[in-house]
This record gives sequence, structure tokens and C-alpha cells, in this order.
Amino acid sequence: MPPQKRQVITDMRRTLIAGNWKMNGTLESVIQLVEGIKAGDAGPAQLAVCPPAIFLMKVGGMLEGSSVALGAQNVCDQASGAYTGEVSSDMLRAAGCQYAIVGHSERRALYNESDELVAARFAMAVQAGLTPILCIGETLTEREQGITETVVSRQLDAVIETQGVAAIANCVIAYEPVWAIGTGQVATPQQAQAIHAYIRGKIAALDAAVADKVQILYGGSMNSGNAGELLSQVDIDGGLIGGASLKATDFLAIAQAA
Ligand code: PEP
Repeated sequence: MPPQKRQVITDMRRTLIAGNWKMNGTLESVIQLVEGIKAGDAGPAQLAVCPPAIFLMKVGGMLEGSSVALGAQNVCDQASGAYTGEVSSDMLRAAGCQYAIVGHSERRALYNESDELVAARFAMAVQAGLTPILCIGETLTEREQGITETVVSRQLDAVIETQGVAAIANCVIAYEPVWAIGTGQVATPQQAQAIHAYIRGKIAALDAAVADKVQILYGGSMNSGNAGELLSQVDIDGGLIGGASLKATDFLAIAQAA
């Protein structure tokens, strides 16, 4: 791809580096982490952090007036009521969230979240003005069976068929091969780019403008050493970072690599 075209595309889609802290940290360590991130330099990339739900209000308060966005790790598919343990989209908005992860592979695998439930969570996030970060990706067995594209297609279709392709314009997609999450076994830039291009192509077949606009992040063992090459791929618009988002210097180094 000629450099000029690359420039045009990246101008349209700002790099997003989002940290998924999962169920890690203490109140003290979270405060330290936020202070470290706020004090650092992320370069031109947009940063977002997704702390455990219990810390959202605290982190939201600390991020007020900063350019770092706040995200939740999940959102309820219902507006309110008898849904013990869930957190609603309005509650997340009130805590200052701009993003909500939906369909993370740990939720799909450990808590049996189906494509349909993920789509319902997605819908609720959009309705409340949150930007869903929709996670999709194949397991190692699925990759070995050669059905990676079928799997990500199915996961994406569950949202497109219920919400319409226009809804994709209001979300961020995170391609996260399950075999790369938390394993240290990162996808090669070529492997990741191939699936990102497939995802964008699939959306483009329905609506070219939406495909041009939507940010597609890569997630799975991204760190400051491999981020530069991954993020230089034309269809990789940022990263969803697990382990390496738990130290401010590592997280900021990934953003700087962009
Ligand atoms: C994740 O859980 O979304 C993730 C990408 O984790 P890690 O960076 O640790 O592989």
C-alpha cells in the first residue's frame, strides 16, 4: 500500500490503545496505575482503561479532565431490575464510562455468554451512548480446523443481523485470537492483518463507509516489543491490552509504539 493512502486511512481512524485490567489490582495499586498513566505521554494515540467494576467510580473521578477514556469490562443486556450481579449501561454512563467491552473470550468461555447475549449487551451499550468494544476471535482448535473466518463472521453477524450494519459504525471491534490471550503467543503481524482485512472486507460488502470508519483493534499478548509492527499494519487500528496494561510504563510504551 502506498504511504500516502496509509496516511489517509490512519487520519480517519485514530489509534486506540485500551487496557483491560480484568480482575486485577487493589484500590491502592489501581490509584497508582491511574496516576502513572495520567502522568505519562501516550503520543497521538487515544488511551482507554477498563478497570474492574468496583473501581469505575474511583477511576472515573481520577480521569476527569484528562484525555484518558474510561471503559467497563461488560454491560448488562437489561436496563434495570432483578439482575443480581449485573451493572447497567446507565450506571456505567453515570460512572463516566465511554466504552464497554462486550463478548470478551473469557466471558464467552467461562460464563457461557452466547453470540445472542453478546449482541443484546452490545445493543444496550449503544442505546445508552456507550461505545461497545466487541471482542471476536477463534480458539486454537478452530484456527487449526481452518475455520477462523467462519467463527469471526458468526460472532459479527450476531450483532449485524440484530442491530444492522450501521450499528458497527458506533462500535470498536477487537480481534482477539483466544490462543494469543494471556499466553505470550502473539499472532504474527501478517496473521493479524489477514483477519483484520477479512473483517473490514466483510463489513465493506455491506457498507463501505462503515468499514472505513470502524476501528479494529488487535488483542492477544501485545506488548511494547511487538506493538510497533502489529500497529503498522494497515487494518490494525489499535490494541486491546491485558497483562501489559497493568504497568503504566508498559502500557504507555505500547501507545508510543503506535
Ligand atoms: C485480553 O484479555 O483482552 C488480552 C488481550 O490479554 P493479554 O494482552 O494479556 O493477552
